[in-house]
Amino acid sequence: MSNLDARPVVTPCHAVGEHGAVTELLPARTVPLGGVRGIHVERVLPQRALPTVGAWCFLDQFGPEPADMRVLPHPHIGLQTVTWPVAGEIRHRDSVGSDVLVRPGQLNLMTAGRGVAHSEFSIGEGTILHGLQLWVALPADSAGVAPAFEQHMTLPRYEQGGLRATVLLGALGDAVSPATVYSPIVGAELSVAPGAIENVPLRADFEYAVLVVEGELRVADVPLESGPLLYLGTGREELPIATAGTGARAMLLGGEPFADELVMWWNFVGRSHDEIAAARADWEGADPARFGTVPGHGGARIPAPELPGVRLTPRRRR
Ligand code: MN
Repeated sequence: MSNLDARPVVTPCHAVGEHGAVTELLPARTVPLGGVRGIHVERVLPQRALPTVGAWCFLDQFGPEPADMRVLPHPHIGLQTVTWPVAGEIRHRDSVGSDVLVRPGQLNLMTAGRGVAHSEFSIGEGTILHGLQLWVALPADSAGVAPAFEQHMTLPRYEQGGLRATVLLGALGDAVSPATVYSPIVGAELSVAPGAIENVPLRADFEYAVLVVEGELRVADVPLESGPLLYLGTGREELPIATAGTGARAMLLGGEPFADELVMWWNFVGRSHDEIAAARADWEGADPARFGTVPGHGGARIPAPELPGVRLTPRRRR
């Protein structure tokens, strides 16, 4: 989906140092996406104190609520998008010719690279929508790759006792996702049975975070419900998780701490003010061919907001 903030805040990102294992709860920020029966999202990435987890640089949770998603064509650069519905179906159309239904349990991965445009419309009116929208920053040497879209109808599973993990990106244990990635990363949905006590295998060189989607989950001895992001730092080889009387679903995100300094503004991930400003100008008409055309909208599109009056610069992570 699009970042529809009318006045998007400047969200600079900076490379992370060595944190070690921590448990830090980072609150969600409610962002309305506008429109009649429009949806709002709970945004947990980026945070001022935590711009990225690995290459994961954006995480919104929407619903569960009856809502319509009507996101007209808008551009992206420098990132990959993952749309992960928990309930509801979304029609995705893009400028590389995709026109697909995004369904729960299936991975839809769009690589923006040097420039792509897409639209997202929920199926039906006022149906229950629930899901996650995630962005992965592309490292410098692949930020300008050709745009692409891939759909994976089935994904590998890592199973251990009362834990069943669906691996979206990267690997968890011996389960390896076929999806195209450009940095050492993992994304996995954890489905945890009631009363389960398990240790999720991790990599000590990755940093991790967990967002609960449904139910209640104890993660590294921290009780966690849907809402905040639990940041776990680096240096862990396993992650203790447990449920009580009810089960839980959660998204585990991780990756090698992202080395590049990033500037995020609106729907763009870049490395300088000028790069972002050029992408904005191209979307606004300087080079519309850069982003192609999303068929089926009669030319309707989301205009770019005004750039702020100051130059966009990366800012240090805490
Ligand atoms: Mn989008």
